[in-house]
Amino acid sequence: MIDEEIISGLLVILFYATVIILLFWGVREAARSRGRDPDSFTLIALLITPFIAYVILVIMGPNKEVLEEQRGERVRCPACAEWVQSRAVKCRYCGSELTPSRPVVTGSGPLGL
Ligand SMILES: [Zn+2]
Repeated sequence: MIDEEIISGLLVILFYATVIILLFWGVREAARSRGRDPDSFTLIALLITPFIAYVILVIMGPNKEVLEEQRGERVRCPACAEWVQSRAVKCRYCGSELTPSRPVVTGSGPLGL
């Protein structure tokens, strides 16, 4: 039956479309979790392949400054724009007074646990 062939063809297309979308979504999330720009790596995945984009992400490693900023551990000094710890009261680069951006929390987890 032709109808069954059309349906099975559509299912194959749907399957591969889902796999491709999951690959691109995986690259985006891998970039985001490493502090890299998800849009740039989606473009790299489109231009080369998601696999090579992922290999590039692994080779580059995490962007520690961005990750620490996302976790609220680092902020930029308003006077000299260098990265300083969010709990610092004085910039170690230019010596200007800083206001800690969050209360001092003991422990390393998100809830201070
Ligand atoms: Zn400074």
